[in-house]
Amino acid sequence: MKITVVGTGYVGLVTGTCLAETGNHVCCVDIDERKVNKLRNGQITIYEPGLEKLFERNLKEERLSFTTDLKEGLEDSEIVFLALPTPPGEDGSADLKYVLGVADHIGKLLKDYKIIIDKSTVPVGTAEKVHAAIAKNYNGEFDVVSNPEFLREGVAVEDFMKPDRIVIGTTSERAKVLLTELYGPYVRQGNPIIFMDERSAELTKYAANAFLATKISFMNEIAQMCERLGADVDMVRKGIGSDERIGKRFLFPGIGYGGSCFPKDVKALVYSAKEVAYDFAILDAVTEVNERQKIHLVSKIRRYFNNDLAGKKFAVWGLAFKPNTDDIREAPSLEIISALLESGASVCAFDPEAVNNVKQIFGDRINFAETQYDCIENADALIVATEWNEFRTPDFDKILSLLKDPVIFDGRNVFDVQVMEKKGFHYESIGRSSVN
Ligand code: NAD
Repeated sequence: MKITVVGTGYVGLVTGTCLAETGNHVCCVDIDERKVNKLRNGQITIYEPGLEKLFERNLKEERLSFTTDLKEGLEDSEIVFLALPTPPGEDGSADLKYVLGVADHIGKLLKDYKIIIDKSTVPVGTAEKVHAAIAKNYNGEFDVVSNPEFLREGVAVEDFMKPDRIVIGTTSERAKVLLTELYGPYVRQGNPIIFMDERSAELTKYAANAFLATKISFMNEIAQMCERLGADVDMVRKGIGSDERIGKRFLFPGIGYGGSCFPKDVKALVYSAKEVAYDFAILDAVTEVNERQKIHLVSKIRRYFNNDLAGKKFAVWGLAFKPNTDDIREAPSLEIISALLESGASVCAFDPEAVNNVKQIFGDRINFAETQYDCIENADALIVATEWNEFRTPDFDKILSLLKDPVIFDGRNVFDVQVMEKKGFHYESIGRSSVN
């Protein structure tokens, strides 16, 4: 099939590349000229495991192309994906200006039947708004479908190629047939394509993210209780996770959720609730707990150093909002670093992929190290902010020899408390007892 993907960010580039991988011809459109030029020249613009190889192959096979010209991008295509930003407005609502702006433009360019698919996370009723925006300028036949994306950054290619499920919101039989064909290669194992109406599909995405964010905030509150009551959150986590109704996944406490989705989607759902005169009380608490948790580690650091961080040097391992991505949007590491700088401390940071993005925020206000060990030389303490695998079993003796004092604040519980105790580190983590 000939497909257009509008927006080549984390969702658009993965979607476009993975759709090309099964033999479709995909033209990706973006207004960012620099990005499009890079992609055209074979330079990938995001870090996502496994993506580069697929990207290079499909570019070479000429199944994947890039343009800044929407008209060119739409030529001969049957299916148009919108993978555009839906950032939060000041009131928390999802800003639809990108989605509706492109819909308006598409309406002016349409000449024949196309399916316009909303992959962006958008509030209930957006499919109707996109339909109206197109219909203003085009009175031929077209369908607008809601097809929310559930991929996780860090495993996005795997998630796209083998999704747990595909949700498609449409009442159009024509769209159903075409999309069943398009997604067939991705659900060969029998994972379901779940058809529903547009509104339910739109709400499904918010419900999924809000539920996952709730799980994280809930565990962070349990961790707070563990710290106060002398319980171990790892034990509690295992104890509840083996109950099938609860499940083992997504029960890890930490320094709060970040990223471009959970924070904004929770707020957008709260806003949507207000619009229909409903007080979505639990989600206000989820956000509040998350904000508290983001600075919880800083409180521990302040307490340990008697509230005097001036002149102290901190090493930070991990900047991305989670492992296996270079995405730093709403990353808890950024808040921790800002708080340390405000208190007069200096920071040296290491991350396998996210350094360039963080440089754009802090410039030369912090130092960056080439390796995780260079990062800790002469530091007063090591802070772990992202649980990259390479941090899990480091050379602790080397760490001991490089740090000024053997002090570790672990925001992701990557180290074993007993090992830390034996090695002689002062070690504080989340929801577990501190040692030494
Ligand atoms: P992103 O910011 O990485 O990418 C958006 C892209 O759209 C950018 O490249 C931008 O230049 C481009 N763009 C903006 N205006 C444009 C226009 N008028 N024409 C063409 N291109 C334009 O965003 P993302 O992370 O890919 O997210 C996109 C949507 O998908 C959001 O609604 C998000 O909530 C949702 N989503 C994201 C994820 C994720 O993990 N990132 C997962 C599921 C859903």
